[in-house]
Order: sequence, then C-alpha cells, then structure tokens
Amino acid sequence: MRPGVELQVPGSEATRAYSLANTGNWEGRMEFFIRLRPGGLFSSYLREHARPGEWITVHGPQGAFGLQETGLRPRWFVAGGTGLSPVLSMLRHMAEWQEPQPARLFFGVNEPEDVFGVAEIEAVAAELPGFAYDLCVWCPLDGGVPATPADRVSERLSFAEAVPDLYLCGPPPMADAVVRAATAAGVPPERVFRERFLPS
Ligand SMILES: Cc1cc2nc3c(=O)[nH]c(=O)nc-3n(C[C@H](O)[C@H](O)[C@H](O)COP(=O)(O)OP(=O)(O)OC[C@H]3O[C@@H](n4cnc5c(N)ncnc54)[C@H](O)[C@@H]3O)c2cc1C
Repeated sequence: MRPGVELQVPGSEATRAYSLANTGNWEGRMEFFIRLRPGGLFSSYLREHARPGEWITVHGPQGAFGLQETGLRPRWFVAGGTGLSPVLSMLRHMAEWQEPQPARLFFGVNEPEDVFGVAEIEAVAAELPGFAYDLCVWCPLDGGVPATPADRVSERLSFAEAVPDLYLCGPPPMADAVVRAATAAGVPPERVFRERFLPS
C-alpha cells in the first residue's frame, strides 16, 4: 500500500506531501485531512482561493507506510493529529477486506476542539469486528482526565494477551513517547512501524 501523494500548489511549482485517508477506488476519489497552517503556502491557497470543482495536480503515489503481513498478531495504530490519515486508510482497508487481526486505534489530540474524524472512525467500528478505539485528549475540559496515546498504550500493553504490531503516525514527540512505552513493555523494535510525518 502506498498512502501518500504530492499535491501541487496551484499557481506555483511547489508541491506538498499529504497522506491519503481512503483506500483505492474505481472513481479515483482521494480523501485527505489537512491542517491549515498560518502563513503556509498550500494552507493559504486552501483557505483563501480553493473552490469546489477546481482542478489540482497530484503527483504520486509514493511512500511505503502500510500494513505488514505478520500473521494474526493484533494491530495497534497510534495517530496524532492529521497522522490519522494513513492510519484510517489502513483501518478502512482492513474493514473492506474483513481482515481478522484484532485492531485498536489510539488517537491523540491536544484539545477537545482538535478532535476530528470521529464519524469516519465510527464507520470503521461498525464494519470491522474486533476493532476498538481510544480518543486521547491531552488537555481535556475541566474535570476530564488528561490522556496521551503513550499512557494509553502503556496501560493496555500491561494486560494485553498478545504482543501487537504497532503502527505510528503523528508528531515526533508523541511517536517517540509511544516507542519508549512500547519498548519498556517489551515490544520488540521490529514490531514497530513508523511514518516520518511532520508535526501537525
Ligand atoms: C509524508 C508526509 C505526509 C504528510 N501528510 C500530511 C497530512 O495528511 N495532513 C497534513 O495536514 N499535513 C501533512 N503533511 C505536512 C504537509 O506536507 C505540509 O508540510 C503542511 O501542510 C504545510 O504546508 P504549507 O504549504 O501550508 O506550509 P509551508 O509553506 O510549507 O509552511 C510550513 C510552516 O512554516 C511556516 N512558514 C512558512 N514560511 C515561513 C517563513 N518565511 N518564516 C517563518 N515561518 C514560515 C508556515 O507558517 C507554516 O506554519 C505531510 C508531510 C509529509 C512529509
């Protein structure tokens, strides 16, 4: 599976990498989750100029972050921010093909208003038996318990019946913390698959 493409910024030669959130389809439809960055070139185009029906040049696909064939081991996915895109693509693939590995998603965001994609995650949950997810909000509203994907992965590993494969995509500090938690819990490094992704 090759989940990324380069989108050309209209009116310039510049391109930006984005991960596909959906799976291959006959209509050629591509879904992305894109965080708009203040002053960013493509972000400014999207915010100020993009209109429905406009054409955009896509280069690719490229990249090699995808599902690994490792038998029936559980697959745990950890996503931070727009790192949800490639992870959702893999989960949708598992749902489409009814793959039997138990799957779990840990989705981390900073604040409650940063949460997105829940309808898409719920749609996977409705179609994929054995799938569950944890939403981890670092700074919850008053009274909420702060949660990070690393904390949740650590907790769940402490009573996991089988050592899972881990797929990580998100800001480097989050992914590093998850790798530390997994290593401390005895997950071998060869079971950790990680997408190098810019923080967002
Ligand atoms: C493999 C891969 C997959 C990715 N997938 C996704 C994805 O699915 N979703 C997603 O949202 N992003 C993704 N990204 C990040 C994406 O490619 C872009 O980097 C991001 O969207 C910012 O692009 P931009 O053109 O808006 O900002 P840029 O113009 O590249 O600017 C980036 C940041 O730098 C700041 N900046 C720009 N110019 C200056 C300046 N002169 N001085 C100071 N600061 C400046 C901007 O304010 C902005 O915050 C991915 C990156 C990689 C490598």
